[in-house]
Order: sequence, then C-alpha cells, then structure tokens
Amino acid sequence: MELRRASSTTFDGLPVHGGTEVVPLLRAGLLRTDTLVDIRGVVPRDIAPGRIGAGATLAQLECDPGIPEVLREACRLAASPQLRNMGSLAGNLLQSTRCWYWRLGWPCRLHRVANGYGDECFARDGEHREHAIFANDYCASAHPSDVAAALLALDARLRTTARELPVAELYRLPTEADRRTTTLEPGEVILEVTFDECDQSVYLKAMERKRWAFPLVGVAAARRGAKTRVALAGVAPVPWLLSGELDSATPLPRNAYKVDVARALVKRARATIGA
Ligand SMILES: Cc1cc2nc3c(=O)[nH]c(=O)nc-3n(C[C@H](O)[C@H](O)[C@H](O)COP(=O)(O)OP(=O)(O)OC[C@H]3O[C@@H](n4cnc5c(N)ncnc54)[C@H](O)[C@@H]3O)c2cc1C
Ligand code: SF4
Repeated sequence: MELRRASSTTFDGLPVHGGTEVVPLLRAGLLRTDTLVDIRGVVPRDIAPGRIGAGATLAQLECDPGIPEVLREACRLAASPQLRNMGSLAGNLLQSTRCWYWRLGWPCRLHRVANGYGDECFARDGEHREHAIFANDYCASAHPSDVAAALLALDARLRTTARELPVAELYRLPTEADRRTTTLEPGEVILEVTFDECDQSVYLKAMERKRWAFPLVGVAAARRGAKTRVALAGVAPVPWLLSGELDSATPLPRNAYKVDVARALVKRARATIGA
C-alpha cells in the first residue's frame, strides 16, 4: 500500500487524517485500499466563532472557550487524551460502527461478501446490549459519535468539496437496496462545520466506564430562545434527533434499559438548559 500526502482536496485514494479509525480498520482487514492519502495539509483546522475547520482535533475543541458547551463536553468525554490529540472532527463524524459483529468481520448486512452483501443482522438475534433502540429493524448498530450528536443538536451545517448540507443529511439508514450509512460520495472531503450561536447547551453521557468508553446513550441539547433541539448518540444506526418522546423507541429484548437511561438524561439535560 502506498502512502501519499495530498497537495489539494482532489486526489485518488482513501483519505486519512489522524488515522485513529483508518489504521485499526486497515490492520483488521475491514478496510482495503491501494493508496492512503494524508489530508492533514489540505483540510482547514482553524476555529472561529460559529465555524470550525474539519481538521480540528477533538483536543482543540474541548479546550476552546468559544466552542458551545455541548460540543466541548462531547469532545471532552470522547475516547482518551491521546486519541483526542490525533482524532479530527471530520474523522469522528465518519467513524464506522462499533457493532462487535461488524468489527469481528461477521458477514452481516453491512459487510461485503463474495456476491454482494451479507443478508443477516447477527445482533438482532444475538448480543445487542449496546445496540440501537430506534430504527433498528434492518441494522441495529448504534452510532458511536458523541460529536455528531452535539452537532445535530446545534443544527450545524457541513461544507464539503462538493456541497453544503445540514449535518443530519450526512447520515442515512442502511436499507436492502443501499447499505451505506453516510451520503458522502467517493472523493468528497469535509472541509468545515458551521453553526449559529445558542443560548445554552449541554452534553450528558452514560457509559460503561467513567472514561474512554463509547456512549451507551449520549444526550446533546441546545436551546435558542424557546426552541430546543435534543439529539442522541448510541441509540440508532445514525445520530438521532429526538422528535417527540422516547415512547416511540423499539428496544430489542436485551437493551430496553437504554430507554430508561435516555429518558432520565433527556430530562436532566432539559432542566440544565432551562428548556
Ligand atoms: C479506542 C477508541 C475509543 C473511542 N471513543 C470514542 C468516544 O467515546 N466517542 C466518540 O465520539 N468517538 C470515539 N472514538 C472515535 C475517535 O474520536 C475517532 O476515531 C477519531 O475522531 C477519528 O478521527 P481521525 O482524524 O483519526 O480519523 P481517520 O482515522 O483519519 O479517518 C476516519 C474516517 O474518516 C475519513 N475522513 C477523515 N477526514 C475526512 C475528511 N475531512 N473528509 C472526508 N473523509 C474524511 C477517513 O477516510 C476515514 O474513513 C474512539 C476511537 C477509539 C479508537
Ligand atoms: S447491527 Fe448492523 S453492523 Fe451489527 S450485525 Fe447487524 S447489520 Fe451488522
């Protein structure tokens, strides 16, 4: 495999920024490429009011007092200090599922097999304690990004080399016809994230350990005047914007506890920001 340094945002090959996700996936054989392209020199990483270069690291964001609380806290509670020093904002949004069947290479619906894709979701009938409680009928994976939930609560927008889009539109639920979980096209690079100021915001996270763990449930809430957006991590195959209440959740036999956790955190988050 060849490693190249990008000299512009147009290139052939698989982009890598911090490599904290790409490298383990390549090692595990879950990702394959002939050419890895280091994009650190061409993706902005500066931070200005309401605008963040997509190459900013999570460590930069957690320390910047100009960043809304919901995003700072989501970054601070993600991964470990070493990973946050290397991991970029865009890389975090594009991380793959942590579904253990997928990570172990089981030939499930999200994995390519000899003549297409697998036709089973092993988690639904198997071990799914940490899996999705919404939109889990086709693939029950739980989106692992704390940062994506924070950006969804902020109603942030992305600018890529091809378009501008709300962060919600970066993601899609996989279906029989199209197994992708993002709408990013090959060669499209995320350049920056923008968002409007909010009055108050908060991020709360339930996790297996107090540090260095993915969200079992993450709750991001941002209030502008009388309007509040609440978004959840770890509850659906995509970052989940909560509309209505948690009664519409469809938990699996061994993860109904997540509904109670989410309900408690949403209540606490709303109270914290006066919503
Ligand atoms: C042990 C561990 C624990 C973690 N815990 C958490 C956690 O609790 N919460 C959480 O939210 N995250 C967690 N993470 C995820 C971590 O934050 C991400 O791995 C990291 O942010 C990815 O950034 P990166 O720059 O290293 O991405 P890379 O590995 O460089 O890239 C990841 C993906 O994004 C693509 N990519 C990167 N930049 C761009 C761009 N600008 N445009 C288009 N495509 C791009 C790459 O091609 C690749 O597909 C954890 C990771 C690990 C390994
Ligand atoms: S939850 Fe999704 S990623 Fe996990 S086994 Fe099922 S189809 Fe595969």
